Amino acid sequence: MKKLTQTARILRKNMTEQEYKLWSLIKNKQFDGCKFLRQYVIGNYIVDFVCREKKVIIEIDGAQHNINKNIIHDEERTKFLEKLGYSIIRFWNNDIDYNIEGVYQKLQEVLNINNQHPPLPLPRKGGDDNMNIIGLKDKNLYYIGGVVRDEILGTKNFDVDLTYDGDAIEFAKTIDGAEILQINEPFGTVKIKYNNKNIDIASTRSEDYPQKGHLPVVKKIGCSLKEDVLRRDFTINAMAKTTLTGEISDYTGGLSDIKNKKIRVLHDESFIDDPTRILRALKFSVRFGFELEEHTQHLQKKYLENINYDMSYKRLQKELKETFDLNSWTAFEKFVNEKIYKLISQEEFELPKYDFSKLISKYESDNVWIIYIGLLPDISSLPLSKNENKIVESFKVLKNTSLESDFDIYKTFKNIPIESVIMYSSINPDIVEQYFENLHDIKLQITGKDLKNLGVEPSEKYQEFFDFVLRKKIENKDLNLSDEINLAREFFKL
Ligand code: ATP
Ligand code: MG
Repeated sequence: MKKLTQTARILRKNMTEQEYKLWSLIKNKQFDGCKFLRQYVIGNYIVDFVCREKKVIIEIDGAQHNINKNIIHDEERTKFLEKLGYSIIRFWNNDIDYNIEGVYQKLQEVLNINNQHPPLPLPRKGGDDNMNIIGLKDKNLYYIGGVVRDEILGTKNFDVDLTYDGDAIEFAKTIDGAEILQINEPFGTVKIKYNNKNIDIASTRSEDYPQKGHLPVVKKIGCSLKEDVLRRDFTINAMAKTTLTGEISDYTGGLSDIKNKKIRVLHDESFIDDPTRILRALKFSVRFGFELEEHTQHLQKKYLENINYDMSYKRLQKELKETFDLNSWTAFEKFVNEKIYKLISQEEFELPKYDFSKLISKYESDNVWIIYIGLLPDISSLPLSKNENKIVESFKVLKNTSLESDFDIYKTFKNIPIESVIMYSSINPDIVEQYFENLHDIKLQITGKDLKNLGVEPSEKYQEFFDFVLRKKIENKDLNLSDEINLAREFFKL
């Protein structure tokens, strides 16, 4: 028991980034007076966070829980803790990274707190956490868009956008100690090197959409800041903050929409001009736990009933990727239920019954978005990469393959991308679960080299033998190298 308390102490000292982020939200009774302890020993187990008064345990599932044996351990542990009257609430690292507001809301529900809106996190001491990196100040130079939004939300953002109210290129030429690296005259943007950092500055500009659904054209460079923000997608992304005093210009009500957790377009033609905004709205809604404001919802519905399919699918794909790489089942539910998928093709599609987002987190596939989007019946409009195409094609082949035995499952799944296997769980979850739980980790120890050492000359017999041992190993996972060598002796009659 002593050892466990020591381990807990070490864990407290070595919290992961996500644990730390959650802890900073709940420590010191700041979550409605609930007292939380971290890395706390209960029985034979260490829990991540616990509120003993409310009998609530919070666990963060990250890399450690991904190891298979820990999952069995987790089940026993859950049973034990629930017997003691605890409810366990789990978040994935991903939730903490990308949807901390959603985490906050969930905790409020579980802890029975009736605040309608979580208070916005206070700006950190010294402010400008996202922004102080540029060290350049001018009354006409503004942080703009996502970086301003994220600072208000207290979320990190490394993608700092700057706008100069006027001509950024002329401004850049006047900065002491700045080296101009690149000028893009038609867009009024400039890249400079300042204090050893590369910084992009855009001029304020207004835009037009002569061809709806395609890239806009620049109408005027050096327009007013107000005109510049009016070309943007949502009120929450249309705030500017001057680098000189930190004052925020909020022409469209972004602050109030952040407080009320709403995503609101700036005008009624917004989705007609640029339908990728429908996906951007979905992305931000899951990232921050926001909802579409009512009129925006109505505009989205109207657009989806009358889609102009002549649009830039390259831009759409970029947003699809950013949205679904978040691995959020909620995003997929919204995408299907609100019929957003119709942007890609008119064919009807139903939400799969099996939620495979946990499989994705567990097996860390690199190409998450295509697992979701590849399920749609027709994605020929999308400019997929070779690898993405392979994933989708393998899934299609899999749909028509009969998998009779564990051996079939193993051989088939091992030879296709893991993404295609996860996609198949939408059709046959039992087989995929069986694979991941019992077959995925099976590996032969014996190699061709061992066979050679036994005096067997390389031939097609090798493959036959490997299949033979594999069948044996699927029946009995405990086979070790010497058992496998004995099987080789038996097989090759040595
Ligand atoms: P992220 O944190 O994902 O980078 P962001 O808001 O910074 O979020 P970007 O794609 O980097 O998003 O775009 C920067 C800014 O440009 C946005 O905040 C928004 O003001 C504007 N913007 C981006 N895409 C569009 C669009 N499709 N239509 C209108 N404005 C857009
Ligand atoms: Mg950005």
